[in-house]
Amino acid sequence: MNLKLEITGEPRRLVVVEADKPRPFDDSPTAWMGGGNCRDYPPVTFFPSDGVGVERARAICKACPVADKCLEYALTERIEHGVWGGTSERERRRILKRRRALHV
Ligand code: SF4
Repeated sequence: MNLKLEITGEPRRLVVVEADKPRPFDDSPTAWMGGGNCRDYPPVTFFPSDGVGVERARAICKACPVADKCLEYALTERIEHGVWGGTSERERRRILKRRRALHV
């Protein structure tokens, strides 16, 4: 049996799921997570400790069909750690700063 970790539901929680098992219908606000390319990688891949790791995660995100939703989620929820929507923590801070500047 192939197991992996997933973030799911509201409130968010980390769960262990069978990687190859079909997902039950999920109408939660975070259902898009099930379509992310990261589902095929260990979660630690998206919480890198160096620049090489960030680039590796970004390469996976680049072709992700839900990258836009992922980025908006991370920005809305003010998620500080990890690579989300192909952006690093620093990039998300810059995006939020630019958005604040536009709305002042
Ligand atoms: S953009 Fe990256 S972190 Fe977000 S769902 Fe896709 S693969 Fe996962």
